[in-house]
Order: sequence, then C-alpha cells, then structure tokens
Amino acid sequence: MSIELKNISMKFKDTMAVNDLNLTIDSGKLVSLLGPSGCGKSTTLFMLAGLYEPTEGSILFNGKDVTKVVPEKRNIGMVFQNYALYPHMSVLKNIAFPLRMAKVGRKESMERAVQAAKLVEINHLLDRKPGQLSGGQQQRVAIARAIVREPEVLLLDEPLSNLDAKLRLTMREEIREIQQRLKITTLFVTHDQEEALSISDQVVLMKDGHLIQHGDPRDMYDLPNSRFVAEFIGSPTINVVTALNEAEIKELVPHIGAARFHSMAVRPEDMVISSSGLPVRVGLVEKIGKDVLVTVEHTSGQRFKVFVPKHTVFNQDIVHIQARRQDIHLFDNQ
Ligand code: ADP
Repeated sequence: MSIELKNISMKFKDTMAVNDLNLTIDSGKLVSLLGPSGCGKSTTLFMLAGLYEPTEGSILFNGKDVTKVVPEKRNIGMVFQNYALYPHMSVLKNIAFPLRMAKVGRKESMERAVQAAKLVEINHLLDRKPGQLSGGQQQRVAIARAIVREPEVLLLDEPLSNLDAKLRLTMREEIREIQQRLKITTLFVTHDQEEALSISDQVVLMKDGHLIQHGDPRDMYDLPNSRFVAEFIGSPTINVVTALNEAEIKELVPHIGAARFHSMAVRPEDMVISSSGLPVRVGLVEKIGKDVLVTVEHTSGQRFKVFVPKHTVFNQDIVHIQARRQDIHLFDNQ
C-alpha cells in the first residue's frame, strides 16, 4: 500500500505539532520518521493510524482519501513503545486479541494467531504470559499481534527504546527482516539516527513539526541540506568550523577554491593527519572499539574530532590535519 500525506498539519492549542507535511511513501518500503524529541514524529504516526484527525490536509492510502476513516477500518497494525501487552493473557491470546475484537471466530482466531507467531518465531512461547518473556520476546509478541490481521501498513512507535543496547541491534535487524519478508509498508518512529540509517529505505528528518530533509540513508549522510541535518546524522557529531579565517581554511582544505558559504562542516571520518595542512595540538585520544578518535585544537580555539588509524602513535604535540574538498559540507544558512 502506498501512502501520501498532503499538506498535513496538526495543532494542539498553541502548539503546531506537525506543520504542512508533504510526503509520499512507496508500497513495501520501510520509512523512518527521525528527529529530536517533540519534533512531531508520534503525532504524524497517530494521524496515519487514525488516532488523530489532522487539523489540515489529507492522507491517502493507495490514492484513496482516508483522512476521516476510523482506525479499525484503515488496515494498519501498530506497535507501541511499551508494547501494551495484556499481562493476564497468554501470548496466544494476546496475539489473537485483535481478531477476537473484530468478531473473528475463536478457532480461526487461534489458527491465525499461531501463523503470526510462526512468522516472528515465537510459536514455542504461546502458553506463556508476557511477564515470563524477555524484552525481545515481548517485542515479537507485539509485532505478531500487529500483523495478525494481515494489515497493509505497519506503524512502529519507538519499538526498541525499552531494550538494552545489544538487543536493540538484533531486534532492529529482525524488524527489517520481517518487514522485507512480508513486503509490508512500514513507518518506524525513532530519535536514534543510527537506527534510522541502518534499517530504512527512506529517512524523513523532522524538526519543530517541519520536514527538513528526506532521502535514502546514504544521501542523508553524504548530502545534508543544512547544518541541522549534518549535525543530526552521523556519529560522533560532525565538526562545524566557526573559528578559522580564510587562510586557515585553505590550510585545512587545500583545494577549496573560491567557495562562498556561511558555515562549513566536516566529519571526523573524512579528516586525515598529514605532513602538511592545518597545525593543531593533539588532545584527548579515545579508543572506541576498533576506532581511535582524537580531539585536536587549533590556536584559534577551533576543535576537531578526527578518526585515525588504530595504531597511530603521536610522537609530537603538534600535527597537521587536512580534508578533501569533496568531503566538506558548506551551508549558506546557520
Ligand atoms: P515526538 O514524537 O517527535 O517526540 P510528538 O509528536 O509527540 O513529538 O509531539 C510534538 C509536539 O506536540 C510536542 O511539542 C508535544 O508537546 C506536542 N503534543 C503532542 N501530543 C500532544 C497532545 N495530545 N496535546 C498537546 N500537545 C501535544
């Protein structure tokens, strides 16, 4: 199912939670809604679910206007942050619940619940109660329950935020795997840029209710359209150059030419220590897993974080750093 949001806005009293959002989502894709807390991600998801009616604009599913259609008639499945499983019901009954609510017979409900459980590989846990499951297993129950009615759209609201770091990695791969197997159009809300980049076909980055940039993960990283995007995407944070004069910028980026810009940014992984370039003092050296991240400082006070090869030894306090023209990001705006 393809989805189209046309000039969608949602106003709560004085707050414009979502402001004139336009977005097309192709059938079978996984799209992440990404952005800082309060930027309007959940509100957007709730409008897609039919839990909120937008104050302006329209929502189309396969070209059909569903703006005023109630949630039960939208053919969507939803997984919330806290999973909202019923603690007193078995896994099987939890999964079958949406079917029972839709007046599907008991026998058929149970059969279909078992099928959904098989899809997410929890069919050995059907008799347990949610309290007897791990976080990852509870997550799968929530997904099974969301897909049991064979919806055409899956909406996931920060589904991994209650899991520990390691399980988050595994579960996000599993979500992607299930999504691709079912070829189900999926919206995934997250504030975690790495999570969004790793599992999505498309990333939609929002701020203050506005869509700032959307595109495939590679483009969001390589071609940020603003300083906000450059700073939000990528880890550790991109270096924003504010303290260097023109001559110093030329030392850092020898082939910069006559570019005009308001601000410049360069990622830690796109800088090198070299025999010539901008002189900087070596500061903190951090070993982050397989990588080494060094913080350096220029006499102007400008600091950079630079990834260096694992076995780099710093024999002197002052080294030189450089970046290539194609790896720097120039912005006209703040
Ligand atoms: P996100 O999911 O990106 O964290 P939300 O969509 O939850 O952001 O919220 C966007 C903005 O709308 C925030 O400023 C939030 O306080 C406000 N908001 C969300 N829901 C409501 C509501 N039911 N009533 C009033 N304000 C709301």
